[in-house]
Parts: sequence; structure tokens; C-alpha cells
Amino acid sequence: MNSKLSMSRRRFIAKSPMAAVALTGSSTKIGQSPIPEPDYSIPQSGFHGKDENSRNWSGDTRSGKVIFVAHCILNQNARIVDAADFPAMFDPLVDFLQREQVGVIQLTCPELYCLGLGRREVRVGLEHSAGMQRLQRLIDDFMFTLHEYLFQGFEVVGILGKNGSPSCGVTRTWLDNRQQDGQGVFIRELKNRLLKEQLDIPVFGVADHKQEDAIKWLSERL
Ligand code: SF4
Repeated sequence: MNSKLSMSRRRFIAKSPMAAVALTGSSTKIGQSPIPEPDYSIPQSGFHGKDENSRNWSGDTRSGKVIFVAHCILNQNARIVDAADFPAMFDPLVDFLQREQVGVIQLTCPELYCLGLGRREVRVGLEHSAGMQRLQRLIDDFMFTLHEYLFQGFEVVGILGKNGSPSCGVTRTWLDNRQQDGQGVFIRELKNRLLKEQLDIPVFGVADHKQEDAIKWLSERL
């Protein structure tokens, strides 16, 4: 095992007190403990982590680190017509995350999910009550996944939006037919939910041709 991975695993165990207890204090053998019933109910918070479902994640080689990224960082085919900047992915950023052994969770593309691939008026569509309803459902699903990783002691490195987008822009967005400072609709709603649930997860906006800024930002955190 290389030193970077073993270091990240140590950090992972340290951040997961219940996992550490399971490592050192449990004498239960596999097959002896009853398997808890799954809880299929999803409360409003989107979180149904129960103590008996807390597991020990240190028994394999996983890094224990994850990051959420805007869908088109990994799949340019989701972009609105004529707006793909690369054939498939943000290669330098993806290469960096692979080197750093961070698991990448691809967010659903909010525009595709709410308005389809052939979408046209993005902001109007997302701000419409029907669009907003779908957007909130998407955010519910995201929150569920986020809560699960946090509950189980994983390190959530952050969320990468896509600067310049009317949906996923973090500090720059498309509004009134031009690029300007501001947030996209999806990121605005997502950050509102994080605030409401008092979750301090850093959000950074990656611009297509400024991936080195995101790599620098991440380097300071990993
Ligand atoms: S910026 Fe967001 S909404 Fe636009 S294509 Fe990428 S993931 Fe989809």
C-alpha cells in the first residue's frame, strides 16, 4: 500500500469514531450479529442513517475521500447544444482527482433532469414552478447521498460546480444573455439547503479553461 493511501485511510478511521470502536472493541464475528431491517422511509431531511447501520469501512483499500462534481465535468454530452468545450471530460481535473485517490460522485445534470437534452430557455424553465419541483427532488436525492457519506465517517472534500452556467455557476453565471458574477439556479438552491441543514461543505466553481484554479484549491485541502 503506498504511503498516500495509508495516510488517507488513517485519516478516514480517525474521522469515523464508530468505525474505530468497531475495529478495536467488537468481538462480534461475521454471521453472528442480526442484520438490521432496512429503513425505506425517507424523512424530509432525506436522511435515514441509523446507528445500527453504521459500518466499519477500514477493512479494504478505499481512500475514504469523496467529492461531488457537476455532471458535465465527467460528461460533456449533457451540455446544451453547441456548448461542449471538450469531447468528454475535464481531463486535467479528472487526472488530478485520480492521482489523489478521491472518489468522484457525478451529480445529476439539473438542466437535463428538469428540461431535457434539447433545452432552450434554461433559467425560465428552472425557475418555473414545475422545473423547481423537479430541481428540489434532485436536491433531496443529493442530500440523502451526502448525509449517508457524512454519517458513515467519510471525508467529503467538497462540491465542484461549473462556473459560467445558468444552473451550476458558483461565482459566475449566465444571466440576461451574458456572463456575469452570480450563482446558477441549481447551486443557489443547493447552497440554501446546505445552509438550512447547517452543513458546511465547501463549494467551488470550475471554469472550463481554468481547471488549474480548481486543482490549486483542491491541493490546499487534500
Ligand atoms: S453546467 Fe450543470 S446544468 Fe450545465 S451541463 Fe453541466 S451539469 Fe448540466
